Amino acid sequence: MPDGFNCGIFAEMTTPKRYLITSALPYANGPKHIGHLAGAYLPADIYTRYLRAQQRDVVFVCGSDEHGAAITIQAMKENTTPKDIVDKYHALLESNMHDLGISFDIYHRTSSPIHHETAQEFFTKLNNHGDLEIKESEQYFDESANTFLADRYIIGTCPICSNDNAYGDQCEKCGTSLSPEQLINPRSTLSGNAPSKKKTTHWYLPLDKHEDFLRQWILEGHKDDWKTNVLGQCKSWIEAGLQPRAVTRDLDWGVKVPVAEGEGKVLYVWFDAPIGYISATKQWAINNNKDWKPYWEDKDTKLVHFIGKDNIVFHCIIFPVMLKLHGNILPENVPSNEFMNLEGDKMSTSRGWSIEMDEYITDFVKKENGGDMMVDALRYYLTAIAPETKDSEFTWKGFQDALNSELVAVFGNFVNRAFVLMHKLCNGKVPSLHATIIDDADRKLVADIQEAKIAIEKNIENYKYRDALFEVIDLARKGNKYMQDKEPWIVAKQTGENGLPTVEAQQKIDNCLHYCLQLTANMAVLINPFLPFTAKKMCYMMKVVDKMLNWENAGKVNLLSVGYSLRAPELLFRKLEDIEIGEQIEKLKNKSKKLMETTLNTQPENTPEKVEEKKATIQFDDFAKIDLKTGTIIAAEKVEKADKLLKLEVDLGSEQRTIVSGIAMHFQPENIIGQKVVVVTNLAPRKMRGIESNGMILMAEDKEGKLVFVSSDVNNGSNVS
Ligand SMILES: [Zn+2]
Repeated sequence: MPDGFNCGIFAEMTTPKRYLITSALPYANGPKHIGHLAGAYLPADIYTRYLRAQQRDVVFVCGSDEHGAAITIQAMKENTTPKDIVDKYHALLESNMHDLGISFDIYHRTSSPIHHETAQEFFTKLNNHGDLEIKESEQYFDESANTFLADRYIIGTCPICSNDNAYGDQCEKCGTSLSPEQLINPRSTLSGNAPSKKKTTHWYLPLDKHEDFLRQWILEGHKDDWKTNVLGQCKSWIEAGLQPRAVTRDLDWGVKVPVAEGEGKVLYVWFDAPIGYISATKQWAINNNKDWKPYWEDKDTKLVHFIGKDNIVFHCIIFPVMLKLHGNILPENVPSNEFMNLEGDKMSTSRGWSIEMDEYITDFVKKENGGDMMVDALRYYLTAIAPETKDSEFTWKGFQDALNSELVAVFGNFVNRAFVLMHKLCNGKVPSLHATIIDDADRKLVADIQEAKIAIEKNIENYKYRDALFEVIDLARKGNKYMQDKEPWIVAKQTGENGLPTVEAQQKIDNCLHYCLQLTANMAVLINPFLPFTAKKMCYMMKVVDKMLNWENAGKVNLLSVGYSLRAPELLFRKLEDIEIGEQIEKLKNKSKKLMETTLNTQPENTPEKVEEKKATIQFDDFAKIDLKTGTIIAAEKVEKADKLLKLEVDLGSEQRTIVSGIAMHFQPENIIGQKVVVVTNLAPRKMRGIESNGMILMAEDKEGKLVFVSSDVNNGSNVS
């Protein structure tokens, strides 16, 4: 046999030297829902916890994606700065992930200096090697705002469905992908003006030149080990023919293009975000005094990207081309999940049809003692219905069934009975094993434990977490059956003259509970990657250290020593009551209804990203005290050292007022002179940045979060009712 052949097989069979696991970077523009959790974070966490239990060298990185127009647009909506937006949502996402047991080694952020440096170095290397193309093109420009307009900053009429508020990259009403040039009557979201065209230069990644590589690497090289849903998408992208893709854009929020001609341009977010995995690894290495390079450069590293299906093209086609050009290793696998629906409809934060991670934590984890068990309950159900190969559906009833009839009735019940019986019939200690009376049922149970271990291992290594979890529950089911067949509580009734079980009876009881306890220890090891809080609690009950959860202990039936005394059983899971799921379904419907009503009042196709909190009800008398009048803005200027404030002079017909207003993020002062506004005229004067403000202007937001003025045919000083 030729040597080369041997080596090939050998290489495939060996365990990689180290693992780098990534989860898709969530956009820091709002909360994320449990569908995201099920898609990219939970499976990665299960895999990582398993690898750690195997004592492998593994680093699990993630972080917030803090660049791009999604952030600047959210900042406009919330009337604040992009920096405030990313600070707020980065903190929220980091704490949500932590509360749900997602055990990142680092949760980083792309606004950090080390990321900017890393992304710039990456660009520079590709640019210097001539791997990028430079092209001049004409793009829309807003003269009054003196800026080029990124896709999302242009709206106009959709050529397909005539929606008046289609974006420059997509019409959200009919779902068509668009380019700004296709919009009819385009206008700038910054000024509302029709944009002009201006020449601009951009860098492009010529993906078309790498089609052969991708075809070879994915369609040949990974045809047997990548998931079919992933391969299918890759195939259709490649077959459709790849186009050069712009790496840079005209925007001021993001990673600056590090060359002189790149003035005023930033890297496109699709280019900088995945580099975030590298910068996160660098920061992790600094924090832990390690070397980051082998994780991205040594071929003995197994790189695995966990993502949702909307990210397949970026992680399977585009990022690998970037990595290859830059001299990095390529991902071994990209186990993308499909989508998880909710109660018969697509999960969507913008339509209010979602369960946000933060909501779940508030309702189930933080408000009760032992909320950790509700974290594990969610992790259980999301894994049991994971959309691994096709879309799946979360229902509250399904969650209740899984929790009550599997976790409580099968897993929790077995552990509880084993402990209760051991305390009652074996003095609270691990009973002896009497070798002479070991029977077929005992041998069968031991074999079941060992087979389960092998099956779970195989499924986890192949990214089949649903099947792996099923094996754990099935093992608990077998444990229940074993105990039921042996019925030690009946055997205990065979008593001698002293009223205690006979020696023979006690030996049978001992063997049964000995094996039940060894099975319990195994269940802790096997469930640990999925339900870490449960495994920890089981260790506490068994008075063993967390080290027992090392995977090498799985399949062993001597984990608990004879004579060792164990603690009293604790509740591992609690039932979910009908009333609780009723409340959640009601809450979901109300949230969605409220959001759709807000939507109908502005634009039918409106998709606001955030539900406004309702303020406390006021009485009519309170309202009647407010004096509202219309007025015209006759002068406007920026307030020094205050990003958000404009100083306005407003003509109310009978008088003029100076009013300081927080609308500077929305308008250039010169563009609002002559516009009509509604003014609260009897608000007590207050000083803002040294200027006395005499009143407040009221404005409404439209679809893009843009503030709108009062129509111009109203006389100044008119009362508003
Ligand atoms: Zn349309």
